[in-house]
Amino acid sequence: MIALWPSLEALPNSHYAAELRKQPESARFAAPVEAEYRRSNLRESRALVRLTCTLALLLIGLQAGEEVLAGSHAVASLIVFPVILFSSAVLAWLAWSGGFERHYLPWAEVLVPLRNCLVCVQVIHVVAVGEIANLMLLPMLLIGPFYFLGLQYRTALATAVLSVASMVGAAVMFHLPPAMALRGGALLIVSAVTLGFAAWQVEKRSRRSFLETRIVAELAQQDVLTWAKNRRVFDEYLPQLWRQAASGARSLAILVIDVDHFKGYNDRYGHQAGDVALRQVALAIQRQVHRALDLVARYGGEEFAVILCDADCCSARFAAERMRRAVEELAIEHRESLSGAVLTISVGVAVVAPTAAGNACGALRLADEALYRAKAKGRNRVEVMDEGAHQVPGMGVFANEPFAPFRRARD
Ligand code: GH3
Ligand code: MG
Ligand code: MG
Repeated sequence: MIALWPSLEALPNSHYAAELRKQPESARFAAPVEAEYRRSNLRESRALVRLTCTLALLLIGLQAGEEVLAGSHAVASLIVFPVILFSSAVLAWLAWSGGFERHYLPWAEVLVPLRNCLVCVQVIHVVAVGEIANLMLLPMLLIGPFYFLGLQYRTALATAVLSVASMVGAAVMFHLPPAMALRGGALLIVSAVTLGFAAWQVEKRSRRSFLETRIVAELAQQDVLTWAKNRRVFDEYLPQLWRQAASGARSLAILVIDVDHFKGYNDRYGHQAGDVALRQVALAIQRQVHRALDLVARYGGEEFAVILCDADCCSARFAAERMRRAVEELAIEHRESLSGAVLTISVGVAVVAPTAAGNACGALRLADEALYRAKAKGRNRVEVMDEGAHQVPGMGVFANEPFAPFRRARD
Protein backbone atom coordinates (compact mmCIF):
# COMPACT_ATOMS: atom_id res chain seq x y z
CA MET A 1 0.00 0.00 0.00
CA ILE A 2 1.29 3.48 -0.86
CA ALA A 3 1.55 5.71 2.22
CA LEU A 4 -0.23 9.06 2.09
CA TRP A 5 3.10 10.75 2.88
CA PRO A 6 6.66 9.54 3.55
CA SER A 7 6.74 10.29 7.29
CA LEU A 8 5.08 12.51 9.87
CA GLU A 9 8.33 14.42 10.39
CA ALA A 10 8.56 15.22 6.68
CA LEU A 11 5.17 16.93 6.66
CA PRO A 12 5.15 20.72 6.44
CA ASN A 13 4.21 22.44 9.67
CA SER A 14 0.51 23.03 10.02
CA HIS A 15 -2.12 22.80 12.75
CA TYR A 16 -3.29 19.48 11.32
CA ALA A 17 0.19 17.95 11.12
CA ALA A 18 0.85 19.08 14.72
CA GLU A 19 -2.28 17.24 15.88
CA LEU A 20 -1.34 14.12 13.94
CA ARG A 21 2.13 14.12 15.50
CA LYS A 22 0.71 14.13 19.05
CA GLN A 23 1.20 10.81 20.79
CA PRO A 24 -1.03 9.44 22.22
CA GLU A 25 -3.69 10.74 19.86
CA SER A 26 -5.59 13.51 21.60
CA ALA A 27 -9.28 13.24 22.43
CA ARG A 28 -9.59 16.94 21.73
CA PHE A 29 -7.68 19.10 19.24
CA ALA A 30 -6.30 22.60 19.85
CA ALA A 31 -9.12 25.19 19.77
CA PRO A 32 -9.20 26.26 16.06
CA VAL A 33 -8.83 22.70 14.73
CA GLU A 34 -11.36 21.39 17.24
CA ALA A 35 -13.91 24.02 16.15
CA GLU A 36 -13.36 23.10 12.49
CA TYR A 37 -13.62 19.38 13.24
CA ARG A 38 -16.92 19.87 15.06
CA ARG A 39 -18.34 22.01 12.29
CA SER A 40 -17.41 19.50 9.61
CA ASN A 41 -18.68 16.58 11.70
CA LEU A 42 -21.96 18.30 12.32
CA ARG A 43 -22.35 19.21 8.65
CA GLU A 44 -21.84 15.59 7.68
CA SER A 45 -24.32 14.24 10.22
CA ARG A 46 -27.05 16.81 9.63
CA ALA A 47 -29.39 14.44 7.72
CA LEU A 48 -29.13 11.86 10.50
CA VAL A 49 -29.65 14.48 13.20
CA ARG A 50 -32.73 15.83 11.40
CA LEU A 51 -34.23 12.38 11.05
CA THR A 52 -33.52 11.39 14.67
CA CYS A 53 -34.79 14.65 16.16
CA THR A 54 -37.96 14.54 14.07
CA LEU A 55 -38.70 10.91 14.94
CA ALA A 56 -37.97 11.53 18.62
CA LEU A 57 -40.37 14.49 18.61
CA LEU A 58 -43.10 12.39 16.94
CA LEU A 59 -42.67 9.47 19.35
CA ILE A 60 -42.63 11.69 22.41
CA GLY A 61 -45.58 13.67 21.07
CA LEU A 62 -47.56 10.45 20.61
CA GLN A 63 -46.64 9.28 24.10
CA ALA A 64 -47.63 12.62 25.59
CA GLY A 65 -50.94 12.47 23.69
CA GLU A 66 -51.62 9.04 25.12
CA GLU A 67 -50.91 10.29 28.64
CA VAL A 68 -53.32 13.20 28.15
CA LEU A 69 -56.04 10.92 26.75
CA ALA A 70 -55.52 8.50 29.63
CA GLY A 71 -56.03 11.46 31.97
CA SER A 72 -52.83 10.76 33.86
CA HIS A 73 -52.39 12.94 36.92
CA ALA A 74 -49.12 11.40 38.04
CA VAL A 75 -46.70 14.12 39.13
CA ALA A 76 -43.93 12.51 37.04
CA SER A 77 -46.05 12.73 33.89
CA LEU A 78 -47.32 16.23 34.58
CA ILE A 79 -43.88 17.72 35.14
CA VAL A 80 -41.64 15.49 33.09
CA PHE A 81 -43.55 15.19 29.81
CA PRO A 82 -43.86 18.90 29.01
CA VAL A 83 -40.10 19.36 29.52
CA ILE A 84 -39.27 16.31 27.37
CA LEU A 85 -41.65 17.51 24.69
CA PHE A 86 -40.36 21.06 24.77
CA SER A 87 -36.67 20.05 24.56
CA SER A 88 -37.48 17.65 21.69
CA ALA A 89 -39.29 20.41 19.84
CA VAL A 90 -36.34 22.80 20.28
CA LEU A 91 -33.85 20.17 19.05
CA ALA A 92 -36.01 19.33 16.02
CA TRP A 93 -36.43 23.01 15.20
CA LEU A 94 -32.66 23.61 15.46
CA ALA A 95 -31.96 20.54 13.29
CA TRP A 96 -34.07 22.03 10.50
CA SER A 97 -33.12 25.68 11.00
CA GLY A 98 -30.57 27.69 9.01
CA GLY A 99 -28.53 28.31 12.17
CA PHE A 100 -27.91 24.56 12.60
CA GLU A 101 -24.11 24.73 12.49
CA ARG A 102 -23.89 27.59 14.94
CA HIS A 103 -26.70 26.89 17.40
CA TYR A 104 -27.50 23.16 17.37
CA LEU A 105 -24.49 21.80 19.26
CA PRO A 106 -24.45 24.24 22.21
CA TRP A 107 -28.17 23.61 22.79
CA ALA A 108 -27.96 19.86 22.17
CA GLU A 109 -25.16 19.60 24.74
CA VAL A 110 -27.64 20.78 27.40
CA LEU A 111 -30.98 19.53 26.09
CA VAL A 112 -30.01 15.97 25.13
CA PRO A 113 -28.64 15.05 28.60
CA LEU A 114 -31.63 16.76 30.25
CA ARG A 115 -34.12 14.96 28.02
CA ASN A 116 -32.39 11.62 28.46
CA CYS A 117 -32.41 11.91 32.25
CA LEU A 118 -36.10 12.81 32.27
CA VAL A 119 -36.99 9.96 29.90
CA CYS A 120 -35.07 7.59 32.23
CA VAL A 121 -37.13 8.90 35.16
CA GLN A 122 -40.32 8.44 33.16
CA VAL A 123 -39.42 4.89 32.09
CA ILE A 124 -38.63 3.89 35.69
CA HIS A 125 -41.92 5.45 36.80
CA VAL A 126 -43.84 3.35 34.25
CA VAL A 127 -41.90 0.22 35.28
CA ALA A 128 -42.67 0.95 38.94
CA VAL A 129 -46.40 0.97 38.24
CA GLY A 130 -46.16 -2.51 36.73
CA GLU A 131 -45.16 -2.21 33.07
CA ILE A 132 -41.93 -4.11 33.51
CA ALA A 133 -41.32 -4.67 29.79
CA ASN A 134 -40.46 -0.97 29.48
CA LEU A 135 -37.15 -1.72 31.23
CA MET A 136 -35.85 -2.81 27.82
CA LEU A 137 -36.21 0.78 26.60
CA LEU A 138 -33.36 1.96 28.82
CA PRO A 139 -30.42 0.75 26.65
CA MET A 140 -32.02 2.33 23.58
CA LEU A 141 -31.89 5.71 25.27
CA LEU A 142 -28.09 5.71 24.95
CA ILE A 143 -27.84 4.96 21.23
CA GLY A 144 -29.07 8.43 20.19
CA PRO A 145 -26.51 10.46 22.16
CA PHE A 146 -23.62 8.24 21.03
CA TYR A 147 -24.50 7.87 17.36
CA PHE A 148 -27.51 9.76 16.02
CA LEU A 149 -27.58 13.21 17.56
CA GLY A 150 -24.27 14.66 16.32
CA LEU A 151 -22.83 14.96 19.83
CA GLN A 152 -19.13 14.63 20.56
CA TYR A 153 -18.05 11.49 22.40
CA ARG A 154 -17.46 13.31 25.68
CA THR A 155 -20.97 14.78 25.77
CA ALA A 156 -22.50 11.43 24.86
CA LEU A 157 -20.52 9.77 27.66
CA ALA A 158 -21.61 12.45 30.14
CA THR A 159 -25.20 11.90 28.99
CA ALA A 160 -24.83 8.15 29.61
CA VAL A 161 -23.44 8.71 33.12
CA LEU A 162 -26.21 11.19 33.99
CA SER A 163 -28.82 8.79 32.61
CA VAL A 164 -27.56 5.97 34.87
CA ALA A 165 -27.62 8.37 37.84
CA SER A 166 -31.19 9.48 37.02
CA MET A 167 -32.30 5.90 36.72
CA VAL A 168 -30.85 5.08 40.12
CA GLY A 169 -32.47 8.20 41.63
CA ALA A 170 -35.85 7.34 40.07
CA ALA A 171 -35.58 3.72 41.25
CA VAL A 172 -35.20 4.99 44.82
CA MET A 173 -37.90 7.65 44.41
CA PHE A 174 -40.51 5.26 42.98
CA HIS A 175 -39.56 2.39 45.32
CA LEU A 176 -38.63 0.04 42.52
CA PRO A 177 -38.15 -3.52 43.82
CA PRO A 178 -34.37 -4.15 44.23
CA ALA A 179 -34.33 -7.06 41.73
CA MET A 180 -35.92 -4.88 39.08
CA ALA A 181 -33.66 -1.93 39.88
CA LEU A 182 -30.65 -4.20 39.56
CA ARG A 183 -31.84 -5.50 36.20
CA GLY A 184 -32.42 -1.97 34.90
CA GLY A 185 -29.09 -0.74 36.25
CA ALA A 186 -27.20 -3.68 34.76
CA LEU A 187 -28.87 -3.17 31.36
CA LEU A 188 -28.01 0.51 31.35
CA ILE A 189 -24.42 0.10 32.52
CA VAL A 190 -23.59 -2.74 30.10
CA SER A 191 -25.09 -0.74 27.22
CA ALA A 192 -23.26 2.43 28.27
CA VAL A 193 -19.89 0.67 28.43
CA THR A 194 -20.34 -1.18 25.12
CA LEU A 195 -21.73 1.80 23.21
CA GLY A 196 -19.20 4.14 24.80
CA PHE A 197 -16.24 1.99 23.80
CA ALA A 198 -17.51 1.54 20.25
CA ALA A 199 -18.30 5.26 19.91
CA TRP A 200 -14.81 6.15 21.13
CA GLN A 201 -13.26 3.94 18.45
CA VAL A 202 -15.49 5.57 15.82
CA GLU A 203 -14.60 9.09 16.98
CA LYS A 204 -10.87 8.28 17.06
CA ARG A 205 -11.08 7.07 13.46
CA SER A 206 -13.17 10.06 12.43
CA ARG A 207 -10.68 12.49 14.02
CA ARG A 208 -7.75 10.82 12.31
CA SER A 209 -9.46 10.79 8.95
CA PHE A 210 -10.39 14.49 9.39
CA LEU A 211 -6.70 15.35 9.93
CA GLU A 212 -5.50 13.15 7.07
CA THR A 213 -7.99 14.64 4.63
CA ARG A 214 -6.94 18.17 5.56
CA ILE A 215 -3.24 17.32 5.28
CA VAL A 216 -3.70 15.69 1.87
CA ALA A 217 -5.60 18.80 0.72
CA GLU A 218 -2.74 20.98 1.99
CA LEU A 219 -0.13 18.81 0.28
CA ALA A 220 -2.03 19.02 -2.99
CA GLN A 221 -1.67 22.81 -2.84
CA GLN A 222 1.97 22.97 -1.83
CA ASP A 223 5.18 22.92 -3.76
CA VAL A 224 7.17 19.94 -2.50
CA LEU A 225 10.52 21.69 -2.37
CA THR A 226 9.73 25.08 -0.87
CA TRP A 227 6.31 24.49 0.79
CA ALA A 228 5.08 27.67 -0.88
CA LYS A 229 1.76 27.26 -2.72
CA ASN A 230 2.18 25.53 -6.06
CA ARG A 231 1.53 26.76 -9.57
CA ARG A 232 -1.92 25.12 -9.75
CA VAL A 233 -3.13 27.14 -6.76
CA PHE A 234 -1.76 30.34 -8.30
CA ASP A 235 -3.42 29.64 -11.66
CA GLU A 236 -6.78 29.03 -9.99
CA TYR A 237 -6.52 31.79 -7.41
CA LEU A 238 -5.49 34.68 -9.67
CA PRO A 239 -8.61 34.68 -11.92
CA GLN A 240 -10.75 34.27 -8.81
CA LEU A 241 -9.14 37.29 -7.14
CA TRP A 242 -9.34 39.15 -10.42
CA ARG A 243 -13.12 38.72 -10.54
CA GLN A 244 -13.49 39.71 -6.89
CA ALA A 245 -11.30 42.80 -7.32
CA ALA A 246 -13.19 43.74 -10.52
CA SER A 247 -16.57 43.57 -8.79
CA GLY A 248 -15.30 45.51 -5.76
CA ALA A 249 -13.33 48.07 -7.83
CA ARG A 250 -10.15 47.17 -5.92
CA SER A 251 -6.58 46.88 -7.13
CA LEU A 252 -4.22 43.91 -7.32
CA ALA A 253 -0.44 43.82 -7.31
CA ILE A 254 1.30 40.95 -9.03
CA LEU A 255 4.97 40.35 -8.29
CA VAL A 256 7.12 38.03 -10.38
CA ILE A 257 10.34 37.14 -8.59
CA ASP A 258 13.39 35.45 -10.10
CA VAL A 259 16.59 34.37 -8.35
CA ASP A 260 19.60 36.03 -9.95
CA HIS A 261 22.28 33.91 -11.64
CA PHE A 262 20.88 30.77 -10.12
CA LYS A 263 22.31 28.50 -12.79
CA GLY A 264 25.75 29.72 -11.75
CA TYR A 265 24.86 28.98 -8.11
CA ASN A 266 23.93 25.38 -8.97
CA ASP A 267 27.04 24.97 -11.08
CA ARG A 268 29.28 26.18 -8.29
CA TYR A 269 27.65 24.76 -5.17
CA GLY A 270 25.66 21.81 -6.52
CA HIS A 271 21.93 21.23 -6.96
CA GLN A 272 21.37 20.13 -3.39
CA ALA A 273 22.79 23.38 -2.07
CA GLY A 274 20.62 25.08 -4.72
CA ASP A 275 17.53 23.37 -3.30
CA VAL A 276 18.39 24.49 0.23
CA ALA A 277 18.92 28.05 -0.99
CA LEU A 278 15.59 28.02 -2.86
CA ARG A 279 13.82 26.91 0.32
CA GLN A 280 15.43 29.76 2.27
CA VAL A 281 14.50 32.28 -0.41
CA ALA A 282 10.88 31.06 -0.42
CA LEU A 283 10.70 31.37 3.36
CA ALA A 284 12.20 34.86 3.33
CA ILE A 285 9.61 35.97 0.74
CA GLN A 286 6.72 34.33 2.62
CA ARG A 287 7.71 36.10 5.85
CA GLN A 288 6.97 39.44 4.18
CA VAL A 289 3.39 38.47 3.33
CA HIS A 290 0.99 38.54 6.24
CA ARG A 291 -2.54 39.16 4.97
CA ALA A 292 -4.94 36.26 4.60
CA LEU A 293 -5.90 36.96 0.97
CA ASP A 294 -2.33 37.48 -0.30
CA LEU A 295 -0.52 34.55 -1.87
CA VAL A 296 3.05 33.42 -2.46
CA ALA A 297 3.50 30.61 -4.98
CA ARG A 298 6.39 28.90 -6.66
CA TYR A 299 5.74 29.78 -10.26
CA GLY A 300 8.31 27.38 -11.67
CA GLY A 301 12.05 26.66 -11.38
CA GLU A 302 13.66 29.51 -9.42
CA GLU A 303 10.72 31.85 -9.94
CA PHE A 304 8.04 32.86 -7.48
CA ALA A 305 4.82 34.80 -7.99
CA VAL A 306 3.10 36.89 -5.33
CA ILE A 307 -0.38 38.40 -5.34
CA LEU A 308 -1.07 41.32 -3.03
CA CYS A 309 -4.69 42.39 -2.74
CA ASP A 310 -5.70 46.01 -2.48
CA ALA A 311 -2.12 47.21 -2.98
CA ASP A 312 -1.30 50.46 -4.75
CA CYS A 313 2.01 51.08 -6.54
CA CYS A 314 3.60 52.52 -3.43
CA SER A 315 2.75 49.68 -1.05
CA ALA A 316 3.51 47.04 -3.69
CA ARG A 317 6.94 48.55 -4.32
CA PHE A 318 7.52 48.71 -0.57
CA ALA A 319 6.56 45.02 -0.12
CA ALA A 320 8.73 43.96 -3.08
CA GLU A 321 11.66 45.95 -1.72
CA ARG A 322 11.22 44.23 1.68
CA MET A 323 11.37 40.85 -0.05
CA ARG A 324 14.47 41.80 -2.03
CA ARG A 325 16.20 42.99 1.12
CA ALA A 326 15.12 39.93 3.13
CA VAL A 327 16.74 37.62 0.56
CA GLU A 328 19.89 39.72 0.42
CA GLU A 329 20.08 39.62 4.23
CA LEU A 330 20.08 35.82 4.16
CA ALA A 331 23.69 36.39 3.06
CA ILE A 332 23.91 33.16 1.07
CA GLU A 333 27.35 33.26 -0.49
CA HIS A 334 27.29 33.31 -4.32
CA ARG A 335 30.73 33.67 -5.87
CA GLU A 336 29.41 33.13 -9.38
CA SER A 337 27.01 36.06 -9.22
CA LEU A 338 27.75 38.99 -11.46
CA SER A 339 25.51 41.27 -9.41
CA GLY A 340 26.91 40.86 -5.86
CA ALA A 341 28.65 38.52 -3.42
CA VAL A 342 25.44 36.94 -2.12
CA LEU A 343 22.33 35.34 -3.60
CA THR A 344 19.80 37.98 -4.71
CA ILE A 345 16.45 38.27 -6.43
CA SER A 346 14.96 40.57 -9.02
CA VAL A 347 11.32 41.56 -8.71
CA GLY A 348 8.91 42.73 -11.41
CA VAL A 349 5.75 44.38 -10.10
CA ALA A 350 2.51 45.19 -11.92
CA VAL A 351 -0.28 46.99 -10.13
CA VAL A 352 -3.60 46.81 -11.90
CA ALA A 353 -7.25 47.60 -11.29
CA PRO A 354 -9.04 44.59 -12.76
CA THR A 355 -12.13 45.02 -14.88
CA ALA A 356 -14.76 42.43 -15.74
CA ALA A 357 -13.81 42.70 -19.42
CA GLY A 358 -10.11 42.04 -18.82
CA ASN A 359 -8.26 39.00 -17.55
CA ALA A 360 -5.24 38.35 -15.41
CA CYS A 361 -2.89 37.26 -18.23
CA GLY A 362 -2.19 40.84 -19.25
CA ALA A 363 -1.27 41.77 -15.69
CA LEU A 364 1.08 38.80 -15.39
CA ARG A 365 2.71 39.77 -18.64
CA LEU A 366 3.17 43.29 -17.35
CA ALA A 367 4.85 41.98 -14.18
CA ASP A 368 7.05 39.76 -16.35
CA GLU A 369 8.01 42.77 -18.41
CA ALA A 370 8.92 44.64 -15.24
CA LEU A 371 11.07 41.67 -14.18
CA TYR A 372 12.82 41.72 -17.55
CA ARG A 373 13.65 45.37 -16.94
CA ALA A 374 14.99 44.64 -13.45
CA LYS A 375 17.25 42.00 -14.97
CA ALA A 376 18.34 44.33 -17.76
CA LYS A 377 19.13 47.11 -15.28
CA GLY A 378 21.59 44.92 -13.38
CA ARG A 379 19.46 42.53 -11.18
CA ASN A 380 18.99 42.61 -7.38
CA ARG A 381 16.36 45.31 -7.83
CA VAL A 382 12.64 46.02 -7.94
CA GLU A 383 10.94 47.43 -11.03
CA VAL A 384 7.34 48.58 -10.95
CA MET A 385 5.66 48.84 -14.33
CA ASP A 386 5.54 52.55 -15.10
CA GLU A 387 2.44 54.60 -15.90
CA GLY A 388 2.57 54.67 -19.69
CA ALA A 389 3.42 51.05 -20.40
CA HIS A 390 -0.15 49.82 -20.54
CA GLN A 391 -1.39 52.53 -22.84
CA VAL A 392 0.05 50.90 -25.93
CA PRO A 393 -1.13 47.31 -25.73
CA GLY A 394 1.65 44.85 -26.39
CA MET A 395 4.39 47.44 -25.95
CA GLY A 396 7.79 46.34 -24.68
CA VAL A 397 9.43 42.94 -24.77
CA PHE A 398 6.08 41.21 -25.28
CA ALA A 399 5.28 43.31 -28.34
CA ASN A 400 4.21 40.32 -30.39
CA GLU A 401 1.97 38.81 -27.73
CA PRO A 402 -1.80 39.42 -27.68
CA PHE A 403 -2.53 41.74 -24.78
CA ALA A 404 -5.51 41.28 -22.46
CA PRO A 405 -7.33 44.56 -21.76
CA PHE A 406 -7.25 45.97 -18.27
CA ARG A 407 -7.26 49.33 -16.58
CA ARG A 408 -4.24 50.34 -14.51
CA ALA A 409 -4.69 51.31 -10.90
CA ARG A 410 -3.99 54.88 -9.93
CA ASP A 411 -1.09 55.41 -7.55
P1 GH3 B 1 19.02 35.11 -14.30
O1 GH3 B 1 19.67 36.00 -13.32
O2 GH3 B 1 18.99 35.71 -15.67
O3 GH3 B 1 17.70 34.63 -13.88
O4 GH3 B 1 19.98 33.85 -14.42
P2 GH3 B 1 19.68 32.39 -13.98
O5 GH3 B 1 20.97 31.63 -14.03
O6 GH3 B 1 19.00 32.39 -12.66
O7 GH3 B 1 18.65 31.91 -15.05
P3 GH3 B 1 18.52 30.57 -15.86
O8 GH3 B 1 17.11 30.52 -16.38
O9 GH3 B 1 19.61 30.43 -16.86
O10 GH3 B 1 18.73 29.42 -14.79
C1 GH3 B 1 17.76 29.05 -13.88
C2 GH3 B 1 18.36 27.93 -13.07
O11 GH3 B 1 17.51 27.56 -11.99
C3 GH3 B 1 18.60 26.70 -13.88
C4 GH3 B 1 18.12 25.57 -13.02
O12 GH3 B 1 19.14 24.61 -12.81
C5 GH3 B 1 17.81 26.23 -11.69
N1 GH3 B 1 16.70 25.59 -11.05
C6 GH3 B 1 15.39 25.59 -11.42
N2 GH3 B 1 14.66 24.87 -10.56
C7 GH3 B 1 15.51 24.40 -9.62
C8 GH3 B 1 15.34 23.57 -8.45
O13 GH3 B 1 14.25 23.12 -8.10
N3 GH3 B 1 16.45 23.29 -7.72
C9 GH3 B 1 17.67 23.76 -8.08
N4 GH3 B 1 18.69 23.46 -7.32
N5 GH3 B 1 17.85 24.53 -9.17
C10 GH3 B 1 16.82 24.85 -9.93
MG1 MG C 1 14.17 32.09 -14.23
MG1 MG D 1 17.12 33.34 -12.41
